Amino acid sequence: MSSEKRLHPETFAITAGRPKSEAGADINVGISLNSTYQAGSETSYGRYGNQTWNALESAISKFEGGETLAFSSGMAAASAVFAILPIGAPVVTSNQGYSGVMALLKSFHASGRLEVRFVELTNTNEVIAALDGAALLWLESPTNPCLDVADLKTLISAAKKKNIGVAVDNTFATSLVQKPLEMGADIVMHSVTKYFAGHSDVLMGSLSTSDAALYSRLEDVRKLNGAIPGPFEAWLALRGIRTFVMRFQKAQENAQYLVEQLKNDKRISRVRYPGFGAIISFEILGDAIAAERVCDASSIITNATSLGSVESLWERRRRHALESHAVPENLIRLSVGCEHSEDLWNDINKALEAI
Ligand SMILES: *Cc1c(COP(=O)(O)O)cnc(C)c1O
Repeated sequence: MSSEKRLHPETFAITAGRPKSEAGADINVGISLNSTYQAGSETSYGRYGNQTWNALESAISKFEGGETLAFSSGMAAASAVFAILPIGAPVVTSNQGYSGVMALLKSFHASGRLEVRFVELTNTNEVIAALDGAALLWLESPTNPCLDVADLKTLISAAKKKNIGVAVDNTFATSLVQKPLEMGADIVMHSVTKYFAGHSDVLMGSLSTSDAALYSRLEDVRKLNGAIPGPFEAWLALRGIRTFVMRFQKAQENAQYLVEQLKNDKRISRVRYPGFGAIISFEILGDAIAAERVCDASSIITNATSLGSVESLWERRRRHALESHAVPENLIRLSVGCEHSEDLWNDINKALEAI
């Protein structure tokens, strides 16, 4: 176990979640299509456990630490965290983040299910001041789509000193950039849909925690709320993880090249990029309609939502009704893929003529 822990991500991405090594054994875990199992073990029913999930979960645990539970989507994973909070529990979170989680928290706040305190994430003192009496600090950093970066270390330790639970949505940075459990967070959440799966062909989410009691409460939520992944989706996500590290590195290199081009382009008014990762958000010198025209004018990059896949995608975020009004109307979020960087820049350069 300890020697396994010292392996590099490139290696455990490939070695994790394999069947036991023995003569004639399968190389890959199978797609376990079973709704029920013979009596006598804990995994008696398909909503409680599945071999293909176990393989995927053990691979994600290698990246994030702790033990992992797979869910049917990133939103299902986030919902499981909120589900263990008591009625009216105070939650501190950023006033800008993934639109789905923001919308869910707003609806919980409106109904009284939770008392949500929305704060300015980049203002560390403001976040800490809001913590008193909170049950949970929900962090997403960098944020989707504004790419605001939180001082995770300081915020996590401030919350833990006050005995407040901390969950971090690590979808954008991934464990290749930051490891929230090592910083003291209780839970790390992923939209596995994005970088882990990486091919725009599967929706899935995960929660990882080093706290056994917390794991078992979250597992109970998954069992009873029933937001379980399908075995085929789990298999696809694990297959995606095999190449996750090299995809992320290539996409990040591409992003760093494109950021330099965008920063020097007179048709762009602002480039947001935290210095790592493969998401770039930029504002054009033009309005919402011009931004839509740009997104439609590319031929390699697809005008589509979502991110973290081998193919580059971009979209004007405010086209979604749920998106925060803090996001500028002319902001384009570009998820950089693994194509050649020069081909991507040529495509962007040409598309920007549509302004
Ligand atoms: C996509 C996304 C989610 C939601 O995940 P789904 O798999 O779409 O349910 C949550 N957080 C972030 C940062 C995301 O990008």
